[in-house]
Parts: sequence; structure tokens; C-alpha cells
Amino acid sequence: MTESPTRTTKAIVAAAPGGPEVLQLQDVDIPVPGTGQLLVKVAAAGVNFIETYERSGTYKVPFPYTPGSEAAGTVAALGEGVTGVAVGDRVAFSEGSGTYAEYALVRAEAALPVPEGISDEVAAAMPLQGMTAHYLVNSTFKVQAGQTVLTHAGAGGVGLILTQLIKAKGARVITTVSSDEKEALARAAGAAEVLRYEGFAEKVRELTKGTGVDVVYDGVGKDTFDGSLASLRKRGMMVLFGGASGQVPPFDVQRLNAGGSLFLTRPKLADHLLTSEERRWRSGELFDAVLAGKLNIRIGASYPLADAARAHADLQARRTTGKLLLIP
Ligand code: NDP
Repeated sequence: MTESPTRTTKAIVAAAPGGPEVLQLQDVDIPVPGTGQLLVKVAAAGVNFIETYERSGTYKVPFPYTPGSEAAGTVAALGEGVTGVAVGDRVAFSEGSGTYAEYALVRAEAALPVPEGISDEVAAAMPLQGMTAHYLVNSTFKVQAGQTVLTHAGAGGVGLILTQLIKAKGARVITTVSSDEKEALARAAGAAEVLRYEGFAEKVRELTKGTGVDVVYDGVGKDTFDGSLASLRKRGMMVLFGGASGQVPPFDVQRLNAGGSLFLTRPKLADHLLTSEERRWRSGELFDAVLAGKLNIRIGASYPLADAARAHADLQARRTTGKLLLIP
């Protein structure tokens, strides 16, 4: 380690699984970077849906628990063996740990250099939802010009970026949202058709003259899964990537046969950031698009770090749009 801060610092800590109220601001020791790690002074931390699954106990994590894998900030100290990064460098990342804090750790190879012209807020808002949207449209199912795509939660963090990336490829986006305000945002991002959830599968059939869509990107899960399958064309691809409304129950594979030789996949970001090259490819294209004015990363709300519980409550109650940030 090249620098060793010794004072205590602030972090959000949950003592046990539970509702948003378990997220409490506490004094903690500044983390010490291990071999190959960076200590980062957090300028802004990203809030993501996965942290609600972890906090509530749906996904198992050890407690006491400091949520957060995403942030942007400056390198404060280097662990053993780190090369190519210096104290003071600006970095952003989606694969850190304990980012709901003033200081967090990340493996050096997972730290993305932040280009000049990108603010700390956008740098913190882009990596997780941006690289997710990037792998969904470039790797899970390669969207082509002329195709029709259904995405859900079109004004959400992933949804707004996904819509812009699909539109940029020359494909048509049909999306779902729950309110007029969200509809306006989804349209501004490039959605051609914006539906409410009720009866969406029938409306998708009408909008595609009975054919169905080429691919569905579904991060809502339990409430939309059946309708999503029913919206696909023959040999279409169902991409289930989340469960904002709850997890999808066990699945009978014969439904793929009955639905018209459908494909089903359940991808996650970690499997699409396997090497430094892959990370730099995805993040580089996204940062370049932001700098060129071709991609807008909407920050729907920024909360003081101490208000992490309010951020989780708002996210789970569908009161949010775009990205939520915590500012230490
Ligand atoms: P969002 O900003 O999209 O927030 C979730 C949205 O889902 C809400 O705003 C709401 O939009 C919609 N929604 C529909 N039903 C419900 C419900 N019952 N409760 C709460 N929300 C509901 O979140 P993110 O962009 O952070 O994440 C979207 C999804 O993507 C999540 O499921 C997340 O886990 C997943 N994800 C998966 C990744 C992967 O690699 N597999 C990586 C990143 C995210 P509306 O009001 O318009 O319906």
C-alpha cells in the first residue's frame, strides 16, 4: 500500500436482512486494499436493484452488510502489486464492494479510467446499467436494423439506456411503463410505442400485425414473464434479466415448444465482463457515446449517503426514473 489513511469513516451498514430501514449510516474503519485492489474515495455511488434483493435476503450475502458495487471517485491508496494506476486517478466501476460509503474497494483491473468531460455523477451512473444494456443488445441477442424489440420498465435505469442503444441500431422499440411521466421519458429516449402493463401482450400482437417481436428484454420478471413469452414471434428470444416485480417461478421447458420454438436465457453482467478487454470495449463505447452526445445517462435522483433507505424505498415503490445516486 502506498498510502494508509487511519481515521474512521462513514458507511451504510445493515446488521441483518430486512426492509429499507435496516440501512443505517455508521462509523466504520477505512477499508484496507488487499493485493491487486484499489481504495477509492467515493464521489458518487450507484444504487441498483440487486442491492434491494441482497438487503431483503432474496439473494444471500453475509451480514453485517454494506451494499453497493458501483461508484466513481478518486484512487486514495493502492494494494500490493497494483501497476498502471496512481493515487489521484479518477475511476468508475460496477464490480466493487461496499460502495454505499465514503471509501470503497475495487480490483484494479475492474476500475475504468474516467475520460475527461465525464462528470463524477455520470461516471457513477453509467457502468452497471450501461454495461448491462450494452451486453444485452450486443452479446445476448445482437439487435439488427429493422427488428422489433419489447423492453419493460422503459423509464428505468437500464430501460432508458437500452431503448437508446436499440434505437441507435435502427430497430423499433416497444416498451411498457406505469405512468404518463414515465411514458414521456421513454418516448424521449426513442421508444416508438409506449404501453401500460395491462394487456401488453395483445397490444404487441396488434402492433406487429400478429407476428410478435424478435426479442423481449424483461427485467420486471414475475408480473410480465408470461406476457413477454406471449409477445414473441416464432423462434423469438426471451431474455429474462431481472425480477423487479419478483422472481419468476420454476419453468416448464415445453412452453418453449408450444410458444413457437422459442429461446430463453437468463444472463447476468458478471459473465459479460470476463476480461479487461471486454470491460474496456463495453465501457469505452458507452463513454464515447456520452461524449458524442449520442447517449443520455439520466440521473433521476441524488440522495445524501445517509438517505440510502429512502433511495431503496423509492426504487421498490416505482417512484423513480433513470439512475439513483448516493452522494457521501
Ligand atoms: P429500474 O430503474 O428499472 O427500476 C425498476 C422498475 O421496474 C420500476 O421503476 C418500475 O417501472 C418497474 N417495475 C415493474 N413492476 C415493478 C414492481 N412490482 N416493483 C418495482 N418495480 C417494478 O431498475 P434498474 O434499471 O436498476 O434494474 C432493472 C432490472 O434489471 C432489475 O430487475 C434488475 O435486477 C435488473 N438488472 C439485471 C442485471 C443483469 O445483468 N442481469 C444488471 C442490472 C440490472 P414502472 O413503474 O414503469 O413499471
